[in-house]
Amino acid sequence: MRSLMHKCRACGRYTLADVCLACGAAAGNPMPPRYSPEDRYGAYRRKLKRGGASPWKTS
Ligand SMILES: [Zn+2]
Repeated sequence: MRSLMHKCRACGRYTLADVCLACGAAAGNPMPPRYSPEDRYGAYRRKLKRGGASPWKTS
């Protein structure tokens, strides 16, 4: 049940993009896994926010 639709974790909008076009927050599966979703997607979200830059960049 893979969907193209992503749901913004911040404002709840649905979008086809990985990042909410309305508020810029990470958008993902409308039904995230129960286990530590914040931690699991934290790094991924930050990576996306950097436009795919190196995840090792710390500054
Ligand atoms: Zn949003």
